[in-house]
Amino acid sequence: MILCDSGNYGTEGMLVNAIWEAGFNPYDIKWLILSHGHMDHIGCAEFFRTMFGCKIYIGEPDAIMFRKQPQLSLIGDTPSCTYQLFEPDEVIRDGDVLTFGNTTLEFFLVPGHTPGCIAYFFDVIDKKEKKRAGYYGGFGFNTLTKKHLVQANDPQLKTRAIYLESLAKVRDKHVDIFMGNHTVNNQLLERRQQMLEYPDENPFVDDKAWGEYLDMKRDELYRFIGDIPTS
Ligand SMILES: [Zn+2]
Repeated sequence: MILCDSGNYGTEGMLVNAIWEAGFNPYDIKWLILSHGHMDHIGCAEFFRTMFGCKIYIGEPDAIMFRKQPQLSLIGDTPSCTYQLFEPDEVIRDGDVLTFGNTTLEFFLVPGHTPGCIAYFFDVIDKKEKKRAGYYGGFGFNTLTKKHLVQANDPQLKTRAIYLESLAKVRDKHVDIFMGNHTVNNQLLERRQQMLEYPDENPFVDDKAWGEYLDMKRDELYRFIGDIPTS
């Protein structure tokens, strides 16, 4: 079983409980795939590896960031000195196609939010029909401020243009099920509630959601940069 991201620091108990409540056994998790190297996504990674023996995967540039500029993981925001960064078992590189059990994931590096942010795509079965799921590993602009980029050795703010390139790189991938990187991205909690109330329908199946969301982030990013396209 694959786990996508490992929750915020301090949420170990909640995450284990949520996995049980969703009908899965956390001991079945063999692979933990981290979307990017920020504490709110990697917080429980080492706990899961120790408890359940899973292997940790992360985009190669973020593994390097852990070693060279650990403060960029936002570990300084954690309230406890017991949290430490870790070495992943494997790193993900652009274009990797990796098989985990019966599922093959196609990976791309989409630098911007962090240098090692990843997007990935894989098939799932919904009511006997094959659907393509897509995950984009980090949408926030909090790391694109001048202050943050200077700290990240990018005083010319090149990361902002790199982020736009990353959105364009995977924009036209066919995705039936858009997986949010935070629950707000795909209204996960509302749609989950809909699934419980109307079990015959799957509100997550929407082959427009991926492209529309990435376009919205592109437009927001143009505004953030202060260069709104005229067309
Ligand atoms: Zn982040």
